[in-house]
Amino acid sequence: MRRPFHSAGLRQTEDELELHAAPVEAATADTAQHEKLARVNLAAMYRLVEQSGWGEGIFNHISMRVPGSPREFLIKPHELGYAEVTASNLVRVSMDDDLDERSGVNRPGFVLHSTILKARSDVNCALHVHVPEVVAVGALRRGLRMYCQAALRFYEQLGYHPYEGLTESLEEGPRMMKALGRNGVALLLRNHGAVTVSETAWGAFSLMRYLVSACKIQLQIEGAGGEAVEISQGACESARKQLSSHNTGRAGADWPAWLRRLDAVDPTYRF
Ligand SMILES: [Zn+2]
Repeated sequence: MRRPFHSAGLRQTEDELELHAAPVEAATADTAQHEKLARVNLAAMYRLVEQSGWGEGIFNHISMRVPGSPREFLIKPHELGYAEVTASNLVRVSMDDDLDERSGVNRPGFVLHSTILKARSDVNCALHVHVPEVVAVGALRRGLRMYCQAALRFYEQLGYHPYEGLTESLEEGPRMMKALGRNGVALLLRNHGAVTVSETAWGAFSLMRYLVSACKIQLQIEGAGGEAVEISQGACESARKQLSSHNTGRAGADWPAWLRRLDAVDPTYRF
């Protein structure tokens, strides 16, 4: 069952930002503040992706639904590198338009992200990368194997979409969404890259960290040439339940630490 839409806004204290998912119907007087905090979070994600070595010049993209305006999302201007993104220079676009690059956003980025955010009302943030290890695993016929705990995050929640060229046509959207499914948390775009989706910026970033780690581990294991041991189906299912309660209790606890890490290097993403 789909969860209702929640805003991706954050509650800001003097010293840190906390994850805060407010019901969208409550986002009235607080809408401007929620959008500001969503912008800070999204700008932070661009900076963290760059710091993680997942950036690709000005290309690829991360999106965030606008709190209180569920048919709009935020994305970086096409011409900016990830380290140049700030809360205020993110572009707000309507997912119901058919934007081309004269609007200042990357056309494949607009198509990919508007498709996901339109189809999945439970998703507020989507992160797309071309990390080589992830592309490599996505090109393996059997895809991601359950070799490690990081891979367990995607047990029965990972879709595969065959390569059709640059994601410039809205007609590809339904096929991508069929592959992601109603409950999928990540999509391997074969021969291309990956997308992680979440209700929060923290969630999409964390999922990508796990996905990159799991893909690196898989390639190391398979490259070693020995007989690999996969986690059993029973253990996968029981671990999934454990992870679910873990996420409920401590979800996002590390996000302020990631922001402090950014602040120590360059806090300009906040402005
Ligand atoms: Zn791409």
